[in-house]
Amino acid sequence: MALAETFPLLPLRGVLVFPSLTVPLEIGREKSIRAVDEAMAMDRLLVFASQMDPEKDDPSPDEIFRVGCLAEIKQAVHLPGGHVKCLAEGVKRVRITNYALTEPFLSVEVEDVGAIPLERTEDVEALAMAVLHHYERYMKLSQRIPDEATLSLETEDPEKLADTIAANMDIHTRERQDILEAIDPVKRLERVLEILSHQVELLELERKIVGRVRRQMEKSQKDYFLREQMKAIQKELGEGEDGEPSSDADAFRKKIEERELPEEARNRALKEAGRLERMMAVSPEAVVVRTYLEWLTELPWKDVAGDPIDIATVERTLDEDHAGLEKVKTRIVEYLAVKKAVPEARGPILCFVGPPGVGKTSLGKSIARALGRRFTRASLGGVRDEAEIKGHRRTYIGALPGRIIQGIRQAGTTDPVFLLDEVDKMAQDFRGDPAAALLEVLDPDQNSAFSDHYIELPYDLSKVFFITTANDGHRIPRPLLDRMEVIEIPGYSEEEKVQIAQRHLLPRARVEHGVSDEEGQLSDDAVMEIIRGYTREAGVRNLQRQIASILRKLATMKVKGEALPATPIGPAEVAKFLGPRRFLSGHMEERDEVGVATAIYWTETGGDVMPIEVTLMPGKGELLLTGKLGEVMQESARAGFSYIRAHTADLGVPADFYKKRDIHIHVPEGATPKEGPSAGITMATALISALTERPVHADLAMTGEITLRGRVLPIGGLREKVLAAHRVGIRTVILPEENMRDLDELPETVRNEMTFLPVRTMDQVLSVALVPPVQ
Ligand code: ADP
Repeated sequence: MALAETFPLLPLRGVLVFPSLTVPLEIGREKSIRAVDEAMAMDRLLVFASQMDPEKDDPSPDEIFRVGCLAEIKQAVHLPGGHVKCLAEGVKRVRITNYALTEPFLSVEVEDVGAIPLERTEDVEALAMAVLHHYERYMKLSQRIPDEATLSLETEDPEKLADTIAANMDIHTRERQDILEAIDPVKRLERVLEILSHQVELLELERKIVGRVRRQMEKSQKDYFLREQMKAIQKELGEGEDGEPSSDADAFRKKIEERELPEEARNRALKEAGRLERMMAVSPEAVVVRTYLEWLTELPWKDVAGDPIDIATVERTLDEDHAGLEKVKTRIVEYLAVKKAVPEARGPILCFVGPPGVGKTSLGKSIARALGRRFTRASLGGVRDEAEIKGHRRTYIGALPGRIIQGIRQAGTTDPVFLLDEVDKMAQDFRGDPAAALLEVLDPDQNSAFSDHYIELPYDLSKVFFITTANDGHRIPRPLLDRMEVIEIPGYSEEEKVQIAQRHLLPRARVEHGVSDEEGQLSDDAVMEIIRGYTREAGVRNLQRQIASILRKLATMKVKGEALPATPIGPAEVAKFLGPRRFLSGHMEERDEVGVATAIYWTETGGDVMPIEVTLMPGKGELLLTGKLGEVMQESARAGFSYIRAHTADLGVPADFYKKRDIHIHVPEGATPKEGPSAGITMATALISALTERPVHADLAMTGEITLRGRVLPIGGLREKVLAAHRVGIRTVILPEENMRDLDELPETVRNEMTFLPVRTMDQVLSVALVPPVQ
């Protein structure tokens, strides 16, 4: 076709003519009939183009779409009454370049829009298949009877497939025009698929509504039916009846403005709100977008709560909330003083290390209170996946932000005190390194633009006051540890616990249970009885529970109108409330025994004591380790054994002792620490006691490692170990001489009650631990 050829134009309303499809048309408008007549008089060619508004009787050129279809009139019959019936077959897509005539009929110059050849790749095949399937579904749902053209649809000619469907579907003129205008056949197929799936979705929804309404209608009348139908429609659209904005997109927009999001977040949120508006309210995608918008609008972006640091307030608050802990409080105050003096310095992160129940969390809360900030926390125990910290990408169904962002949302301000618990319990595996992610959170160079995978917008964490906690300082990943200022909070002595109970736990529990100060008194001895008989811990968590349990019983008695016991409640009455004692006086052996020595060891939950038992059996010199012995303990046992073999003469043990007997070393189950108990000297003592038949003093515990030549090596965690021994009633402890300086860390009351026996060699251990031989 030469450029600028002129053809008559017929404006269409509602229908469209596509290349290589035949369409029957009935024409009524005067101008259109003239156009057909004109075409029939020439070469039967005519341009069909859709008018933008189908209601217009005489559209002007700018009310007619520019792209149309050149078609050949196969047949035209004048009907009685002036209408013309004709059959047109589309030839090709053309673009109108100029209107040559507007009267008495429309006539236009057109140019070829060109054609992009379709490559039959696998993608195209798949696309065509999808289009066909969706079309079949569409036909079924819309309960239309396929006509000739659509009955024989197939994927053989994908281009024609798209056009045929577009011509036959009940869709908006604009959408149909879109398909006509899509020159690239792949784009055309994609567009058809998009329209089809939207239609299918609508039809399915409609069917659902109709189905629901029909079921409800069976037992009711017509106006009820109408109301129900309205409700069902509103429900599908997510609209309420109580005058809320008509779509939640508007509600979100309102919230976005109110919450004063930063520029970038605001733009993002508004864009998502726009997307939400175009989605079906019930589609899974809409749910995802809605949740995301909730996160963006609920997160604090600007809100702050904190006051400037006031050291006097900090000191007062810490004292109000906690008994004892003087050293710890001083360290915290110093830390905050530096922070106040040099706010911009990238100081270390506080890390409280200690067994459970010693007040790590409660110190964090106290700091928040003193600074007027909110408090929030996240536990990192068992976290092995980076996504737990940095969030899941939103492509996941059910994706959520990480624990940091969750904690911040919960706090509701940008400057909370944020306690990160159990940083020593993070694991590392193929899902990424949570410790590295945590570093990003804590690093002042990076955390002003923290990126959570879910939120996908930089979030400023620089105002957050992070505090970490751990049970075992040695297990904190090294790079994290380097960034921390570790404050150790070791366990409490019994006296300290009594103080804590009287000053804090009891008063709090009384308020919580509605028991007055007079009604809920416990004597110091009663508290001590609870500590010794019902708890075994370095902290005060179980003590707190037992006290709560007593007060609960008092509260119940009060409600029932029963007479309350006279106060203060004394030690003898504790069992009435708590039942028989759970712990007898610890693990202390009742009398001096042969082959049993008491070890004290350190665990994450404080110290503990355990008996080590050695029995000799006739045999051939095997060393049997029974019970649950860790690797390090086995080494200690072997070291002790070798020491004895090398010193048989000095010890008065037959040189061939190990040839005729088997030696069993037993550590009771459940009492075994995971790692090094530093029980070398204890094992050796128990062994030698068994071999020489000299009993070990029962009121004595020991700790220390031993070398093959009998030297005693220093150990760690002395404070917890000594407190554990004290707790079970032991008053004498053998310890490596080099550890004597650690005794400063002990509460004075404990130190004064105990006897410490420093040793440097195994000989010294034996001379104090074993009962002297009977002469
Ligand atoms: P952690 O976080 O170390 O496991 P918590 O802070 O939860 O322990 O402490 C357990 C309970 O014991 C809390 O109710 C806390 O207030 C109380 N507590 C612990 N130490 C003290 C103390 N020194 N003074 C007052 N209360 C304490």
